[in-house]
Amino acid sequence: MELPFAESWKIKMIEPIRKSTRQEREQWLKEAHYNVFQLRAEQVYIDLLTDSGTGAMSDRQWSAMMLGDESYAGATSFYKFEAVVKQLFGMKYVIPTHQGRAAENVLFSSLVKEGDVIPGNAHFDTTKGHIESRKAKAIDVTTDKAKDTQLEYPFKGNVSLEKLEKVLTENKGKVPFMVLTITNNTVGGQPVSMENIKDTVNLCHKYNVPVVMDSARFAENAYFIKTREEGYKDKSIKEITKMMYEGVDAMTMSAKKDGVVNMGGFIATNNKEWFEGAKLFCIPFEGYVTYGGMNGRDLNALAEGLMENSEYDMLHTRIHQVQYLASLLDEYKIPYQRPAGGHAIFVDADKVLTHVPKEEFPAQTLTCELYLEAGIRACEIGYMLADRDPVTRENRFGGLDLLRMAIPRRVYTDNHMKVVAAALKNVYDKRESITRGVAIEWEAPLMRHFTVQLKRL
Ligand SMILES: *Cc1c(COP(=O)(O)O)cnc(C)c1O
Repeated sequence: MELPFAESWKIKMIEPIRKSTRQEREQWLKEAHYNVFQLRAEQVYIDLLTDSGTGAMSDRQWSAMMLGDESYAGATSFYKFEAVVKQLFGMKYVIPTHQGRAAENVLFSSLVKEGDVIPGNAHFDTTKGHIESRKAKAIDVTTDKAKDTQLEYPFKGNVSLEKLEKVLTENKGKVPFMVLTITNNTVGGQPVSMENIKDTVNLCHKYNVPVVMDSARFAENAYFIKTREEGYKDKSIKEITKMMYEGVDAMTMSAKKDGVVNMGGFIATNNKEWFEGAKLFCIPFEGYVTYGGMNGRDLNALAEGLMENSEYDMLHTRIHQVQYLASLLDEYKIPYQRPAGGHAIFVDADKVLTHVPKEEFPAQTLTCELYLEAGIRACEIGYMLADRDPVTRENRFGGLDLLRMAIPRRVYTDNHMKVVAAALKNVYDKRESITRGVAIEWEAPLMRHFTVQLKRL
């Protein structure tokens, strides 16, 4: 008999979690203005808000923390971390930052100016925020294949080369760089193929436009290349990673994802001028260039996390769990972005709450319903997150309206996934009776989804 799949680790420490009653949750959600970001964590039973900074560190990472060097400048922890980044990504210059958006802030402060145009495959919200707040324009060039959630295509995160070339030809001299996000978080944690990475880099370089890799989930992207793309099955994740970054000009990294640390990030580049430019902003924003907003101990944990999470077994365990949750939704016929992505399942809220008009934010409404059903906190990646057009101030209803259930790394078991799927099924079964959504009572001018206050209609 063939042995079944099992996790490639065992558990050394546990953290109790608590269930609540529906009545309690109704009260709490009302107090949170129907925005799950405003809930207290202890009001949540299974927390799938994000896979960012929520992973469980390994015994090796914890022990590496004890060896942290907290010297202000030139700490051993920095050099250990820098060596790992150079080895994995083949980049020459490395600047630590406290998280991914800080890396964007430091690098973009030196590179982005008013009137610039920055194409990308569905810019992440903070990336778009850092572009738009500098009065530059972020243009999405993701393949249209990503828009059809039911289409089975292995690399829905890909760049449309036609769309990209159009932006490059129409904006000559105004494009400081292109952002290539792996995996493509916004369209469903969908990977970008090696072929598409190479084609994108070559096309940009043909127009003398550098490429910045938004790298939060580089290891999951490499896993999908290994398992889905012809010609890579015998290559290691580390070999594939190195290949993905060949010719790439710089990277920004949210280490809270595939670095499996609770806080951290960095910039790496091969461009000396960019390095010098970024250093100037790192010092006032983040701190001296060998710590950049991180403790020595956290740099040590990150160095270890990057090495161990770029091993096949670790990634296989993770993606297997995401795919397990997807298989349960298949059984219940609940529509989600297919095939399952790397870090999350993105339920197609438009296809679930078909009676809720888009002006009443179906995915946001589904987020509320899932929380009320079982205390499960997911998040909206849809019309609320898409925010308003910076010029017209109209809501942007053009994209997908998704409920994201992000799976923290090494935190929950498959039994928790069963609870999540069952709760979603219960909501799905009564979808016909849900006819009204939510309305905005107050919103911030930028990145409104974190703090928006809503009322239930
Ligand atoms: C999380 C994320 C960021 C921002 O990183 P933070 O660490 O949250 O600041 C940027 N890009 C992508 C693709 C991300 O997933």
